[in-house]
Amino acid sequence: MNRPGTPARPLCVAVIGAGPSGFYAVEALIKVPDLNVRVDLFDRLPSPYGLARGGVAPDHQKIKSVTAVYDRVAADPRVRFFGHVKLGIDIMVSELRERYDQIVYAVGCESDRKMGIPGEDLKGSYSATDFVGWYNGHPDYRDMSFDLSCEAAAVVGIGNVAIDVVRILAQDPDVLAKTDIAAHALEALRKSKVKRVYLLGRRGPVQAAFSPKEIEEVGAVERADLVVDEGELRLDVVSQQGLSDATARKNYEYLVNAAHKGPGTKELKIIPRFCVSPVELIGENGRLAAVALEHNELEPDGKGGVKARGNHEYETLKDVGLVFRSVGYRGVPIPGVPFNDRAGRIDNDNGRVAPSEYAVGWAKRGPSGLIGTNRACSVATVAAMMEDLKADRLAVRNVDPSPDATPILLSAKGVQTVSFAQWKAIDKLELENGRKAGKIREKFTHVQEMLEAAAK
Ligand code: NAP
Repeated sequence: MNRPGTPARPLCVAVIGAGPSGFYAVEALIKVPDLNVRVDLFDRLPSPYGLARGGVAPDHQKIKSVTAVYDRVAADPRVRFFGHVKLGIDIMVSELRERYDQIVYAVGCESDRKMGIPGEDLKGSYSATDFVGWYNGHPDYRDMSFDLSCEAAAVVGIGNVAIDVVRILAQDPDVLAKTDIAAHALEALRKSKVKRVYLLGRRGPVQAAFSPKEIEEVGAVERADLVVDEGELRLDVVSQQGLSDATARKNYEYLVNAAHKGPGTKELKIIPRFCVSPVELIGENGRLAAVALEHNELEPDGKGGVKARGNHEYETLKDVGLVFRSVGYRGVPIPGVPFNDRAGRIDNDNGRVAPSEYAVGWAKRGPSGLIGTNRACSVATVAAMMEDLKADRLAVRNVDPSPDATPILLSAKGVQTVSFAQWKAIDKLELENGRKAGKIREKFTHVQEMLEAAAK
């Protein structure tokens, strides 16, 4: 029998998920010297790029330009894109195992963590993931609606996602109108009555997870003041030691400068609060009206870090009609694939999930790191795949290596797949529609619309 990876028998790899980590895995595979490989890249949406399309904020177009690299990867003749194919519905893990020597799960973290406090399910309380998907025109969130008629909103968590949400809430809609923000979101944001946006960190400014560039962008929103109370910036001994970290110091210095500027006179206020945890979301007539906070003290966590502990002092933020929890993403288990429930990601050992099965990106590491972090992560997993291939550690399977095996299966099931060329046709129409509307891109926000555009 011919060994997989040879000219007579190319290695057949399925990569599930066409976000950054999936594309970097494909890129790493086609760059392996002397490897004969055929890669099928699947995505449940007709569009590729994952969070580079559905997560990166619309006013961060420069970050999105990374998709040009992914386009070059997709253009390689050894690579095929199968858009609009849902794992577990249109194709089963068992069917992949019959058709591919190796499988790479690049499925990211599609859900989010909960705060676990009373009132979390009230109308007006959402996950940041929902809001991000909605303003980015992701089809899953297309039909959500956010009532922005309240005076104040609070974002829980102080990572970069929280910062994106704060910025989009505060940004002048005329600025967003030129981007690729979804039309439905722009329309709602134009009617927004929100005047105060709280950013709630359970730990202090030195432990903030946002990056300096992100907080600087918040401070640069023209129609909003970043209002920092000096009292929020008082540091305990442990936090003072934390200032030896360059990123923490930069963040802290920026906030100190903002505090010196005072509250300002602009119509909108962005108010960071530190060492506070929501303990209850309070409703009125069935919808969110206020947030009860407990103040925290910081103490060593015994692992070299710092943790927050409630000190039984409470306060209530009034007139808060919207809360976005932005306390981290979480993976969704795939039937038949081991899952680490505590970590909220696929169970794996440095990318190895099971014989011949691997993980990359957030599915492997959990929800951390920037887009570029995924390149090294995928390169490392592909190195493990090559080690296993060379050492004959592939699972014993009767793989059908024919390039037709998957298209035949999907067509027999009546799945309308979208090829990369078809995606580029959708892309072209989105860009054209954007030009007509005076913006970078007008996204199709319904899967059906994309399929119709692909069929043209
Ligand atoms: P993140 O960076 O892990 O931040 C999560 C935040 O939630 C932290 O402030 C964390 O506080 C807080 N938190 C967790 N559990 C909490 C709880 N029960 N109560 C209150 N607060 C809680 O996650 P993320 O913001 O979702 O971002 C995910 C990744 O994407 C990050 O690596 C981020 O840098 C990246 N990203 C980058 C950009 C960009 O570059 N523009 C944009 C978006 C996302 P503790 O620190 O106390 O745990």
